[in-house]
Amino acid sequence: SSALTVQELAEKLNRNASEIIKLLFMMGTMVTINSTLDDETIELVCMEFNVECHKEIIIEESDFEEMMNVEEEDEENLVSRPPVVTIMGHVDHGKTTLLDTIRKTHVTEGEFGGITQHIGAYQVSVKGKKVTFLDTPGHEAFTAMRARGAKVTDLVIIVVAADDGVMPQTKEAVDHAKAAGVPVIVAVNKIDKPNANKDRIMNEMSDLGLLPEAWGGDTIFAEVSAKFGDGVSDLLETILVVSEVENFRANPNKMATGTVIEAKLDKGRGPVTTLLVQNGTLHTGDAVVVGTAFGRVRKMTDDRGREIKEALPSTPVEIIGLNDVPIAGDIFKAFDSEKKARQIAETRLTKRIDQERNSSSAMSLDDLARQI
Ligand code: GDP
Ligand code: MG
Repeated sequence: SSALTVQELAEKLNRNASEIIKLLFMMGTMVTINSTLDDETIELVCMEFNVECHKEIIIEESDFEEMMNVEEEDEENLVSRPPVVTIMGHVDHGKTTLLDTIRKTHVTEGEFGGITQHIGAYQVSVKGKKVTFLDTPGHEAFTAMRARGAKVTDLVIIVVAADDGVMPQTKEAVDHAKAAGVPVIVAVNKIDKPNANKDRIMNEMSDLGLLPEAWGGDTIFAEVSAKFGDGVSDLLETILVVSEVENFRANPNKMATGTVIEAKLDKGRGPVTTLLVQNGTLHTGDAVVVGTAFGRVRKMTDDRGREIKEALPSTPVEIIGLNDVPIAGDIFKAFDSEKKARQIAETRLTKRIDQERNSSSAMSLDDLARQI
């Protein structure tokens, strides 16, 4: 066990012991500087300070997101997980058409009905292997998530219409992918069109630093017709090849962590949230903190609307049971105790309200200054 005293923990976290005492007091636990803290309490304190506690070592990290970081996992706990793919590109170059074609043509064998409901993400099966697509094309969603510190995408497909060429949002997409540090596959779309010009796309993308493999670079260019389906299977197989090289992994044998993809308030069901499980396994009945919301996973459904009991890494699921509607890009974590989940959510909510109050009072001071 990693039992530490309040003082020892404070030193490891580079905090004042009084901050920890105060925090625990707010959560209903009285401690002194010499009190010994159990693992659960240490983890709770770490969470509040956005620091990951890993076994006996406490690793200081700047971001809550790091809880999903598999680099800290023991090698033997890691297993391969499906890639999470985002499709980006200029308007009208065929993002939605490509997502629809993939969804319609690559649902798991033996399944009827396909993916009917929209939960912001879906999974398809390619040669027996799963691939997860974020079904929220549009750079805003991507930018918003990144701004919130969420890293959800493993791989970006940039769609470029072969009859149109590189456009401003194509460049933006390249910048996003570079900033996220994820591999890119270029889908040269609308290859069915008589004026399609693949070489031009390869040239223009090379100018943006994405040199095709065929020309000695390391970017894969896949020719597709999203509308008629040509090349789409090959594109999916290419995703598998890239994923194998990248070796995306996670530890399914722990409480789940991940990110909110979408959330809304449903009149009958209350807050309905699509989560992407990124590490660990989420089960129905688990207590979760989602941003500043909390609750138990009362019911969990997959992208086909089927009720499921557990969700492995890279699985998008829709859950109900939260007390409030979280924000896309919020990070979630499951806990073994609902009490803990509630405490953390409440502390975070207080903090968020404080922040908002501070920023709004700052604004009113500005306003005041302007009036003077
Ligand atoms: P988005 O704005 O990137 O989501 O683009 P859409 O998927 O909405 O496609 C824009 C238009 O291009 C639509 O009219 C599509 O039918 C058409 N389109 C998309 N892919 C192809 C394709 O492979 N071939 C042809 N001929 N048209 C396509
Ligand atoms: Mg679209």
